[in-house]
Amino acid sequence: MKMEYDIIVCGGGMSGLSLAYRALISGVWENKSILIIDKSNKSINDRTWCFWENSDSPFESIIYRKWDEMCFFSLDSRSLILDTADYSYNMIRSIDFYRHTLDYLNSQENVTISNENIVRFTNTNYKCEVITEQSRYASEYVFNSIFKKPPLEEKHTYLLQHFKGVIIESKDLNLDTKKIHLMDFRTGQENGNTFFYVLPISDTSALIEYTLFSSKLLEKDTYDIKIAEYINNVLKLKEYKVLEEEFGVIPMTDFPFTRFEGNIVNIGTIGGDTRGSTGYTFTNTQKTITKIIESFNNSGSPFFKEEHISTKHKLYDSTMLKVLEEGKYQGHQLFTDMFSKVKASDILSFLDSESTLSQDIKVIKSLIPQYFIKPFFKSWWNR
Ligand SMILES: Cc1cc2nc3c(=O)[nH]c(=O)nc-3n(C[C@H](O)[C@H](O)[C@H](O)COP(=O)(O)OP(=O)(O)OC[C@H]3O[C@@H](n4cnc5c(N)ncnc54)[C@H](O)[C@@H]3O)c2cc1C
Repeated sequence: MKMEYDIIVCGGGMSGLSLAYRALISGVWENKSILIIDKSNKSINDRTWCFWENSDSPFESIIYRKWDEMCFFSLDSRSLILDTADYSYNMIRSIDFYRHTLDYLNSQENVTISNENIVRFTNTNYKCEVITEQSRYASEYVFNSIFKKPPLEEKHTYLLQHFKGVIIESKDLNLDTKKIHLMDFRTGQENGNTFFYVLPISDTSALIEYTLFSSKLLEKDTYDIKIAEYINNVLKLKEYKVLEEEFGVIPMTDFPFTRFEGNIVNIGTIGGDTRGSTGYTFTNTQKTITKIIESFNNSGSPFFKEEHISTKHKLYDSTMLKVLEEGKYQGHQLFTDMFSKVKASDILSFLDSESTLSQDIKVIKSLIPQYFIKPFFKSWWNR
């Protein structure tokens, strides 16, 4: 195996494989030698990625389910049908994504894929070095997606979005298969900002996810107990079978992740592509990759100037995180105020960092201002 490459992709998960796949398809890496290193061979369905969109995704062909309708339930069981305009909500199963991208990448002569544990990588004089447990490689560029918790300071907020999801099957399931529950607050709030997220997959099966935004994880059993309560008491199901399970933790933070460190380019969560206030990462990562590809096209290098998640949206995220952490304006109330007063398509655009000032104002006006004043100035000061 060669020891020198033009490009090394450290971590072949969602962002690493998306980048390699899309850069090769686009032609910008046609004449580059590429090494992708991941400690796992990605042969299991370890997560599902969901995202909304109002145009085609680069991974349209492997979308497993698509919904055009969304609803919201408040803590006091009020239901809202969300006006999502032309947005659809999509689900990609990771196993389909890994197969799709790896089949293509394995067929490319200039791509080598290796399952190794990366110990560290460095960047000296614009040459990168990657050290694994077995080998030492060099390259011009490294694209890194290996996450480690950042060195936080007092001023940063760091919440966790933690969730357990189960795919259940029941002949008595009575959900509208065209409609997802984007946020369903019909559950106790004693463990922090808590909601269910329900995606009907067929007439008899659905993904039910118990989700919290809080600073610490719960005991393992608590997730299962809460899921069972919701299925029994809210969905009114007595008999059902759990087909699959997923557990995840996504950082929700205003820590300013570094995109470029010399010739090392951080992508995915470690590159700052996880939206601080929502944990959604898939779409932001694809937008970053579009910028990297454009940059290779224009200048032969990956460097771009303007981040997709703008300074303005990062300031909103930081403020929102501080409000949620403070807990005076509880998450269920905040989201109920937002979704009952603003068109969901404006909120989705806001959460996608694509909102105009007038959409921002609509969202801001829907919330109780007194809770935001201090957190906003704190976030602004800390920028
Ligand atoms: C269960 C779950 C569900 C999620 N659902 C959604 C969703 O619906 N929508 C959304 O937008 N976001 C979602 N996210 C958030 C985010 O999209 C995912 O975490 C996404 O996988 C992040 O992409 P990434 O490339 O940054 O990291 P990953 O996809 O985790 O890729 C990092 C890769 O690095 C490899 N690696 C780590 N350490 C080493 C090492 N030392 N040596 C070699 N390889 C290493 C890992 O094996 C992994 O393949 C979810 C996250 C989880 C955990």
